[in-house]
Amino acid sequence: MIIVSEECVRTVLTEEDGFAAVEAVFAAMAHGDAYNFPVIREAIGHADALYGFKSGFDRAGLALGLKSGGYWPGNAQKGIPNHQSTVFLFDPDTGRLSSIVGGNYLTAIRTAASSAVSIKHLARPASRTLGMVGAGHQSHFQVRAAVRQGNFERVVAWNRHPEMLDGLEKTVTGLGLTFERVEPEQLAARADVIITITSCHEPLLMKEWIRPGTHLACMGTDTKGKMEVDPDLVAACAVFTDEIAQSVSIGEAQHAVGKGLLSEAAITPIGDVINGTQAGRVSEDQITLFDGTGVGLQDLAVASAVARKAEEQGLAQQAGL
Ligand code: NAD
Repeated sequence: MIIVSEECVRTVLTEEDGFAAVEAVFAAMAHGDAYNFPVIREAIGHADALYGFKSGFDRAGLALGLKSGGYWPGNAQKGIPNHQSTVFLFDPDTGRLSSIVGGNYLTAIRTAASSAVSIKHLARPASRTLGMVGAGHQSHFQVRAAVRQGNFERVVAWNRHPEMLDGLEKTVTGLGLTFERVEPEQLAARADVIITITSCHEPLLMKEWIRPGTHLACMGTDTKGKMEVDPDLVAACAVFTDEIAQSVSIGEAQHAVGKGLLSEAAITPIGDVINGTQAGRVSEDQITLFDGTGVGLQDLAVASAVARKAEEQGLAQQAGL
């Protein structure tokens, strides 16, 4: 059994590794080779914390295990991140615990890889302007991964807490792109690709603002009740997702489906587009929307890649049970 510390994950895990692992596992899910088990997430009645598990099995990639963790709102005052998680991997042949992998940095990389996969497969290749709605921890990873997939020249950004945009500006200009603060309506009028990554519970982008040909990656909504865009906008888009069951229950599509504006059958798993079994974008004018809800298999796929690399490089800690 090996232990890969959070620090070691940061040393060995690259954005390319994250992208390759997430694209492959989305494809495996669509082939029926990989499936997620039901998610458990509970308020534990202590430290105001939300705690749970995301788990699954990828028969193609031979990744079996779970990510355990959640959100502790008081952590920031203790100098540690509010989001805490750890991945446990098991040998699918014997059920023995094979690896324990720090899950915090890994979560940011796998979430950014997910929207980047959607940009690769669904955005217009001529996209030059990236719109960012949100400027928190994840937003930096989102921008870096998106920029690797497209020929973006500039970022236009909005955040409800404007002081957080200073940090995002540093990340964007560090990548050699220009950065401009705009209002949400202007952002929609200028962006070719829009990433939303907030903890919002109401629409920040309205249907009538979005230009034909835009690709939206809605990444913040991962819980019942959260919302980032107008449900009428979701209903007007060609909608793709990591997993339909999560999209309609905890993802951005929950509201459009709940109001009867969009049917579950109209949502396409991104894995089918990757595998070429379903169409992605069908015209330059189509508005595409990726509902990235975050599945446990993403964590397991990236953690497996990390464990392999850490062991090969002699950086993993060997341990016995
Ligand atoms: P963070 O706390 O660092 O940042 C929160 C962001 O949301 C900031 O931009 C903040 O200004 C904005 N925000 C907060 N309340 C808002 C409101 N009421 N209206 C508009 N904006 C608001 O969080 P983070 O780590 O950057 O994560 C952002 C979101 O992404 C979280 O909600 C998190 O649960 C979600 N997330 C999703 C996945 C996934 O796989 N889909 C993975 C990780 C995180």
